[in-house]
Amino acid sequence: MSLRHFVDPSLFLSKIMTPPSLLTDLHMHSIYSPDGHHTPDAMFQRGLELGLEAMAITEHAEWHKGDAGFPRVEEYFHATLACRTKFAQQGLGVYTGVELGNPHIYARQAYHLLDEFPFDIIIGSVHWLYDINIHDTAVFRGRNLNEVYTDYFYEASRLCEEFPIDILAHFDRILWRATLLGLPFYPTQLEKPIRTMLSTVVRRGISLELNTRHLAMNPTWRENLTTILTWFKEEGGLGLVVNSDAHQTSQITLNFDIAETLLRQTGLLAITPEKLGEVTLA
Ligand SMILES: [Zn+2]
Ligand SMILES: [Zn+2]
Repeated sequence: MSLRHFVDPSLFLSKIMTPPSLLTDLHMHSIYSPDGHHTPDAMFQRGLELGLEAMAITEHAEWHKGDAGFPRVEEYFHATLACRTKFAQQGLGVYTGVELGNPHIYARQAYHLLDEFPFDIIIGSVHWLYDINIHDTAVFRGRNLNEVYTDYFYEASRLCEEFPIDILAHFDRILWRATLLGLPFYPTQLEKPIRTMLSTVVRRGISLELNTRHLAMNPTWRENLTTILTWFKEEGGLGLVVNSDAHQTSQITLNFDIAETLLRQTGLLAITPEKLGEVTLA
């Protein structure tokens, strides 16, 4: 049965703001991440109201400088699997998942977590560069700008090469802070490290994420993204997995309309959970 039968007509306006081809959101955080604000139940309920057909809550697992991995993983599974049962009856597919911060550096701990818990979706993220959180301005301090970008894209390549993941999250994340700082970014000066990352993603069968969190921030950045996504296609990429990385209910599917435009401009397809390859329902 179509999901539309379950959507309250009063929610029609929010529904038409979500392009019809983007009906999944597979990267977000709930209260089981230190920076998440809402329960899994509240997140899935909002996604259902927005007309989504599949969602995954992918909590942080970090081991940097003594971080404890995924401290409440058992509670998370308990809550999420309860939601899977509840929301399946309403037409929403619920997937479990985790966002691993630099798992190639913390491989022993990351493999241990994955051995213990049957996550459906494994997201890999470069969150650390030079032992500094990449959202920290200190990443740029005392370094040539293009050197920082280059090191970031090679770090993402190493992650994809060395650790098995389903999705490479926010491949452009280094640009979030750079853009906020007003720092320039010229992709053509960085074509080699960017293409290395993109070709590694393709060769390793990893899905590239188009993270929508900051897509509205800077139009020039979007032009640069189009350039990078065109290169991705040239390297053999066929599709992107579009995710909001929501940390609260109001951010679910945020900027999906912009993502839809980027997909249209580049001719890339939207990847859905069934097409992620390794993804199976536990
Ligand atoms: Zn992240
Ligand atoms: Zn995230």
